[in-house]
Amino acid sequence: MDDLSSRSDDPDKRMFFIPNRRPRSSPPDVRDNLRAFVASHDFRDLTAANYREWKNARFSVDTIRRTFGSWGNGLKEVGAAPPKKSIRVMSDHVLLAIFRDIWVYTYKRHEKSPSVIHVKEYAKAHPERSVSVTTLTRRFGPYKKFVEEFARYATGEIDYAALVKNCRPPKKVRQHVPLKVRFEILERDKRCITCGTAAELEIDHIIPVAKGGTSCKSNLCVRCRACNHGKGVR
Ligand SMILES: [Zn+2]
Repeated sequence: MDDLSSRSDDPDKRMFFIPNRRPRSSPPDVRDNLRAFVASHDFRDLTAANYREWKNARFSVDTIRRTFGSWGNGLKEVGAAPPKKSIRVMSDHVLLAIFRDIWVYTYKRHEKSPSVIHVKEYAKAHPERSVSVTTLTRRFGPYKKFVEEFARYATGEIDYAALVKNCRPPKKVRQHVPLKVRFEILERDKRCITCGTAAELEIDHIIPVAKGGTSCKSNLCVRCRACNHGKGVR
């Protein structure tokens, strides 16, 4: 809307009215709008060009670049950075420690050694830290044979070296937290749970993947880049 009071009655001067200032964009508003964009788009569609065409875009791409330094930084700031390149695996020790817990849990409930069903039952009861039968068989071979060998190991009949002598090297799997889940965690925590900042947020595993931590929501949190990377694998 023009500010009519600043317009002159003189037709020659009339066109020289003082233009309205556009309201200045505040970084939190830009962040919120970018967050909403991320939430409503597929990961591979998070381009500046798509933002320009997005019906709820409230800012220019230039404003977003100015606010965050670059389009990519903006995405990072709202937790939509590509998954971390680091590849983490569970060691045999960690896998076996979890399997021991599964065994104890199963025995206490059913007085049985754990079958495939019990491994799943444990995973349901302990969503933050568990293993799948697939992970176990990939590493230790056929499940039933592994259970027998584990019993021998647990009773002291064979030692650790004998238990793991035929196991295959861990397959390196990149941990990928789907964008939808990343966004939900971001909405839930909003800030770094360690230091409280709202900048450079990343999604982090509370129990590290290398320690058997899963990518379920209860094992995920928001941490800033500094807190996340300073922490390392505990
Ligand atoms: Zn932090």
